[in-house]
Amino acid sequence: MAEVERVLDQNAIESLAALVRDVPDFPQDGILFRDITPLLGDGAALRLAVDALARAYADIDVVVGIESRGFILGAPVAYALGVGMTPVRKLGRLPRETERADYELEYGTNTVEVHTDAFGPGQRVLIVDDVLATGGTAAATAELVERLGAAVAGIGVLIELTGLGGRERLARYPVTSLLQYE
Ligand code: AMP
Repeated sequence: MAEVERVLDQNAIESLAALVRDVPDFPQDGILFRDITPLLGDGAALRLAVDALARAYADIDVVVGIESRGFILGAPVAYALGVGMTPVRKLGRLPRETERADYELEYGTNTVEVHTDAFGPGQRVLIVDDVLATGGTAAATAELVERLGAAVAGIGVLIELTGLGGRERLARYPVTSLLQYE
């Protein structure tokens, strides 16, 4: 497994991890869902997580939040950095002209979209989501950013599931995760 750089001290990691609930067999059998709603509901924890993600990268022009929990974290990270936030959404949700990328799921495919005018040329983009699993969603999002002429400066997530190869798949980009689970 690729080396994971720690961005929080042990106390901070434990205080955040205590607010993540493992829910077996959700949304389907065999998935251990990492529920971050207790963490989002705790003001100190939310601030700690948002500030840590914002601190990890410099010279960001725009934050991309991936639907839908990436919106919840991406917007305050953008606010902390003093930049704008743009949504990458599931197919059919954005009203104007979009760029689309398909990616493989365990069963079938999924599609993400972004407005074609979301980025200026060469802008440095920070992609934010709650959980990095296989990396398929983040890789498709990075592809959209690059196709529209911007650059992926980093990918920041609250939780990384280290056994699923996401970091390896995203090896071209700096990936920051606050909590890691096997
Ligand atoms: P992936 O594309 O496999 O990296 O999956 C990442 C996306 O799926 C993120 O948007 C997560 O919100 C969601 N996700 C994947 N696995 C989990 C999990 N075990 N618990 C919560 N969310 C997950």
